[in-house]
Amino acid sequence: MTRTENKTNLLVIYTGGTIGMMKDPDSGALVPFDFEHIYDQMPILKNFDYRIDFHSFDPLIDSSNMKPSFWIRLARIIEDNYELYDGFVVLHGSDTMAYTASALSFMLENLNKPVVFTGSQLPMGVIRTDGRENFLAAIEIAAAKEEDTVVVPEVSIYFENQLMRGNRTTKFNAERFNAFVSGNYPLLAEVGVHIRYQYNNILKPNFKKLKVHTQLDFNVTILKLFPGISEVVVKSTLSIPGLKALILETFGSGNAPTDPWFINCLEQAIQNGLLILNVTQCKSGSVDIGKYETSLDLGRIGVVGGFDITTESALAKLMYLIGEGYPKERLTELLQTSIRGEMTIE
Ligand code: ASP
Repeated sequence: MTRTENKTNLLVIYTGGTIGMMKDPDSGALVPFDFEHIYDQMPILKNFDYRIDFHSFDPLIDSSNMKPSFWIRLARIIEDNYELYDGFVVLHGSDTMAYTASALSFMLENLNKPVVFTGSQLPMGVIRTDGRENFLAAIEIAAAKEEDTVVVPEVSIYFENQLMRGNRTTKFNAERFNAFVSGNYPLLAEVGVHIRYQYNNILKPNFKKLKVHTQLDFNVTILKLFPGISEVVVKSTLSIPGLKALILETFGSGNAPTDPWFINCLEQAIQNGLLILNVTQCKSGSVDIGKYETSLDLGRIGVVGGFDITTESALAKLMYLIGEGYPKERLTELLQTSIRGEMTIE
């Protein structure tokens, strides 16, 4: 494959999900359509003055089947094609898009080109689809350059008029077209008649060489607190063989029960080498250990505060950092540092 000089070259990577579905003329069921025929489905694509190439995953997957092994494949596709293209659009199911976008943001160090994720709530083959607009705007954003420099050199999600930093997003709506929220970080762009980039919110390129990290460690889990959580639930989670890190989804600004059995279980696990990261269940706002009495003990026993990171991003960041083999102290430091714009630390 070679570049077409004097043109913007884009690679669209189709992983599956609702966006690429069409009604099968025989069965009437929704089936993924073949991107070889994309120009028949969307002749308007020819109006762009870009060269657009397509790469389809095989097999195409509903994103509920997304696995870290697919993240690695995706990262490798971007790495292998990085010099050939000016930007990448990833078509992905919305269900786990926030996880994949978060993971890619950590795996692609020194990313200086746009990787724009998009999808849709209604398939492209349905008349009222939101996929068409999402796809076309994502292409424009991936191609955007000003004075020869790309405008959005980071992993982002474009959905329903809003461009968000990928590792700040959560899917919060299964019905409305605006399926994603970025509760702790402002938009990177808003799309109406014009695409209004919020330049101050967008990461700046560092012009260093792309470094792709694929050594993820999967010995990470999530424990969501709820009123009445029992000792047996907590203990069985903490005794998962090989577990290295636990995301503790706490209440409000990082609060948890103060029952001695609960605190003792966590303390014991930390002393045995488990890393526990405190992430709030709220979609907006930050963990603030020590603000309430109900989080004081967590701080005392060595639970690490995750500031305003999302659960999706925390999971991806832990898999990435542990996979890189950092010693515990450095790991703890990096968890409290924003390394890809995933947290706000005040
Ligand atoms: N279940 C689908 C998926 O995530 C939903 C969608 O595409 O939005 O792949």
